[in-house]
Amino acid sequence: MTSPPQQQASDVVVIGGGPGGYVAAIRAAQLGLSTICVESAPTLGGTCVNVGCIPSKALLQSSEQFEFARLHSHEHGIGFDGLRLDLHQMLRRKDEVVAQNTRGVEFLFRKNKVTWLKGFGTLKAGNIVDVALNDGGQVQVQASNVIIATGSIPIELPFLAFDEKRVLSNTGALIIPEVPSHLVVIGGGVIGLELGSVWRRLGAKVSVVELMPAILPGTDDDVVKEADRVFRRQGLELHTGTRVTGADINDERISITLERDGQSRSLDASHVLVAVGRKPLLSGIDAAALRLELGKRGEIMVDDQLRTNLPNVFAIGDATGGKLLAHKAEEEGVIAAEVIAGQKVKMHYHSIPSVVYTWPEIATVGLSEREVRESGREYKTGKYPFTANARARTMGETSGFVKFVADARTDELLGCHMIGPNVSELISEVVLAFEYRGSSEDIGITVHAHPTLSEATKEAALGVLGRAIQI
Ligand code: FAD
Ligand code: NAD
Repeated sequence: MTSPPQQQASDVVVIGGGPGGYVAAIRAAQLGLSTICVESAPTLGGTCVNVGCIPSKALLQSSEQFEFARLHSHEHGIGFDGLRLDLHQMLRRKDEVVAQNTRGVEFLFRKNKVTWLKGFGTLKAGNIVDVALNDGGQVQVQASNVIIATGSIPIELPFLAFDEKRVLSNTGALIIPEVPSHLVVIGGGVIGLELGSVWRRLGAKVSVVELMPAILPGTDDDVVKEADRVFRRQGLELHTGTRVTGADINDERISITLERDGQSRSLDASHVLVAVGRKPLLSGIDAAALRLELGKRGEIMVDDQLRTNLPNVFAIGDATGGKLLAHKAEEEGVIAAEVIAGQKVKMHYHSIPSVVYTWPEIATVGLSEREVRESGREYKTGKYPFTANARARTMGETSGFVKFVADARTDELLGCHMIGPNVSELISEVVLAFEYRGSSEDIGITVHAHPTLSEATKEAALGVLGRAIQI
């Protein structure tokens, strides 16, 4: 006979322990609310920490260092004999970095007195969350407020079901035990280019197939042009404007059929990474039964305070669509918790940066030049290449530029687009300026330390005003 579920009550129940969910839980607890986070995976941190941001960045870091040692160290007068790749150790290090981060989230839960219910949560009418515990028990929690943070999953192609051995999602692409002989990446977006770069640097032939006319659709045209040029020069084979129409999988190889301008051809792959986007995951959330309002792509509809159409039910992160980014999920988590605690706060989406951690890196905030042009607004641009930046020259990393788009009349910043070394760090200054509705002059007249890469940001901002100095 099964025992009846244990009953509990809580101010806040968060379903999902990814960057959205764990941050929401910590903030709610900081604000004095009793908080439970329900997470079914064996570790906290969600997609980002376990199979996304963190392991991919660990491998990007290691593979960059391997490529530096192989191709560029001699320029610095550093020679190697017998340089070799220990892929096993590289993957083990990546796993340890992930473990440090998942343990870190557990520590933060203990420190802030967030209860982690290890199990699968199902939301029921009346804000009851039924939890099937991983160890077999049942708990029923009556929540005053629920935050849905169930995340997203990769989109599968009908003729290429993931087996995570040869047909890979991001999960499988982070654990390939041997360098693939030929990795075909379907989708020239963020995951395709980041993980494609990892395996290319480690010695794989990598072919990226992108449906749209260019890689990284939606990114500023100048950045895309530079990225396309640099990635091809690095050895990534890019097939843009190309549709994948089928796949034939046999014991040895996978034959991928491509179509471009009415012409068919095939690629013979050892492994295929399908990275054609992600979709909201609503596991444990029966939207129809709950009458929870969804958007066209199955995302949970929320207002700028992260409220759904159901009373005291909030939703955050990838499950709500928009930019599928960890820092967007985290900020939504903070706002949802603060709204529950009675604070008058709301989300501001216009200054959320996006970064692609290839080398060179790509970082953007705000509107592309094309978007501004199409809006009919009068604008000015300023652009500064890293070839003219002293620090970039000392590093031997002169690809790319910083570009600003600003309002022609008021000089308010509308967009910033960077491709170059460490631009993931340079963008923060611009995001802060965006938050304060800053102008290019604000950045242009700010003193930047010399010699730093950030001087390129200052010079690009001065370029908007027609008064760059060092070019
Ligand atoms: P998730 O992280 O997906 O977490 C949802 C959690 O909910 C999961 O742990 C899941 O197990 C749990 N869950 C779901 N349903 C239930 C249920 N019913 N009961 C209990 N638990 C449940 N973003 C960046 O900003 N920077 C990056 O560099 C970056 N790199 C990425 C690299 C890759 C390869 C991928 C795939 C993504 C990357 N992202 C990056 C995106 C980022 O991972 C997501 O935007 C982020 O994880 C979304 O957070 P979330 O909390 O909404 O959902
Ligand atoms: P994405 O939306 O970035 O790219 C998908 C690409 O696949 C697009 O360029 C699209 O045009 C293309 N595509 C779609 N269908 C196709 C088809 N049938 N054939 C060929 N190409 C096709 O999605 P992703 O790379 O899968 O990443 C998913 C999400 O994860 C992203 O939205 C991103 O926000 C997030 N992510 C972020 C980071 C980061 O912040 N550095 C890193 C990885 C992932």
